[in-house]
Amino acid sequence: MGLRSAYASAHYWCSSRHTLGDRTVASTTNFRAMGAGGPILDVEHLTTEFRTTRGLLRAVDDVTFTLDRGETLGIVGESGSGKSVLVRSIMNILPRTASITGSVKFEGRDVGTLPKAEQRHFWGTQMAMVFQDPMTSLNPVKRVGHQITDPLKYHMKMNREESNARALELLRLVGIPEPERRLRQYPHELSGGMRQRIGIAIALACNPKLLIADEPTTALDVTVQKQILDLLKGLQRELHMAMILITHDLGVVAGRADRIAVMYGGRVAETADTRVLFRNMKHPYTEALLNSIPRIEHESHTRLHAISGRPPDMVNPPPGCRFAPRCLYAQESCTAELPPLLPSNEPGHRFACYFPPRPDRSGGVLMAGTGKAHLRDGDDVLLRVENLVVEFPAGRNRDVYAVSGVSFDVKAGETLGLVGESGCGKSTTGRAVMQLPHPTSGSVKFDGVEMTTLSSEDLRRTRTRMQMIFQDPISSLNPRRKVKDIVAEGLSIWGSTIGTFSKTRVNEVLDAVGLDPDIVADRRPHQFSGGQCQRICIARALVLD
Ligand code: SF4
Repeated sequence: MGLRSAYASAHYWCSSRHTLGDRTVASTTNFRAMGAGGPILDVEHLTTEFRTTRGLLRAVDDVTFTLDRGETLGIVGESGSGKSVLVRSIMNILPRTASITGSVKFEGRDVGTLPKAEQRHFWGTQMAMVFQDPMTSLNPVKRVGHQITDPLKYHMKMNREESNARALELLRLVGIPEPERRLRQYPHELSGGMRQRIGIAIALACNPKLLIADEPTTALDVTVQKQILDLLKGLQRELHMAMILITHDLGVVAGRADRIAVMYGGRVAETADTRVLFRNMKHPYTEALLNSIPRIEHESHTRLHAISGRPPDMVNPPPGCRFAPRCLYAQESCTAELPPLLPSNEPGHRFACYFPPRPDRSGGVLMAGTGKAHLRDGDDVLLRVENLVVEFPAGRNRDVYAVSGVSFDVKAGETLGLVGESGCGKSTTGRAVMQLPHPTSGSVKFDGVEMTTLSSEDLRRTRTRMQMIFQDPISSLNPRRKVKDIVAEGLSIWGSTIGTFSKTRVNEVLDAVGLDPDIVADRRPHQFSGGQCQRICIARALVLD
């Protein structure tokens, strides 16, 4: 079934429910008609604050924008810039510690003033969200089919046959093969890309007019990322939904968003039509984000360009421009007052900077990691992998080759990229290097020591010098532990042999990954964005040096 026929069918379900006289849905119909013509979403002076032990944390600060029907807005910024809190404020799905001021109007109606029962119908039927991590956003103990049919029964009042038929239709819509079989499966039986397609199917189930995708591809392989982004864009065009696409990567929104808003320190730093922004960016932070995209044609692509320093502390933000401590264009007056979001000479282009970059002016942003990788004197091989083979039993006397005859060297200070689609064996190769699992055959030499023949005790000791950072930061952190305990875990395990627990060391590595130890040490993983969680994982991996 094509997209259009699926869409028509979705409308059929809505219409049939309306004629059955469901009161809530009927009021939604009036709501749709009332707003026709104007922007679908009108956000004005939105400010969101959280009560914390350190004081009020202003995560979103005076954000104003509108979104038209069928339009895609890309919201871009690094972790902690306020983009996820912004969309959760729009949907009004924040914890009780949050307070929201300003207004969010959807088709002319203020979402914040809707009665709770109506708000619940609003989520799903009017605006829906695709979350960052499909593994944690899906219920692990419920079959996929039930997770899709639940909102159909609740919001659209469908019976079992109707909701099952619609679920099948949705799975076909999002490109899932063998949909009948998938409906009976649990999330852990599906690949990451397939799980995210299920997340999209759930979001589209009740035919929303606004789809919010919050970093929908961060937890996925690069090839699957493109498929999911293209799928979202295709569905958005076909179903004529408005879409807000949140990402930390300017490259993701290029070619997929009509308009881009760059956020920094809870505020919009720059906004423009996508083409205008890439042609004529005015804010040093936008410029820095663009420079941080690795380009294969540049010799320096061997190193990632990061923006030095860390995002501002939103409990005590720096005076004046929040980007000033990281901006080489900064002048004294930048720290006197917050720069307002002013129009440029191109329609729809606004930026908040007193001294925007010009081709004739040197300056820029403190970038880290520029230039080529520096190899250690002598360029010694630190890791040598030869003819690595990993087999897994597949039942009935059959084995599956996950890795077959892989060999490579890595020198000290060198970065080796292993690239390939899901299932090609790259993760198994990485794990087999750590002897998780033990390879079936082949050799892994780390600093001259053959790893495959080490005793368990020697292997544990050697692993203190090799660490892994996992793909999914959220599920690889213990949700019950504080950040300082998570990062210090390796130190406390090895305390008797390589030094006692060191608060200084924990602070050092948190600082190195761009997190302020005074702010993050006593918080738990759920209080961070996906990007910040990954920084915590990196700190944990680095703590043993
Ligand atoms: S030049 Fe000044 S106002 Fe502009 S981003 Fe840099 S610090 Fe902020």
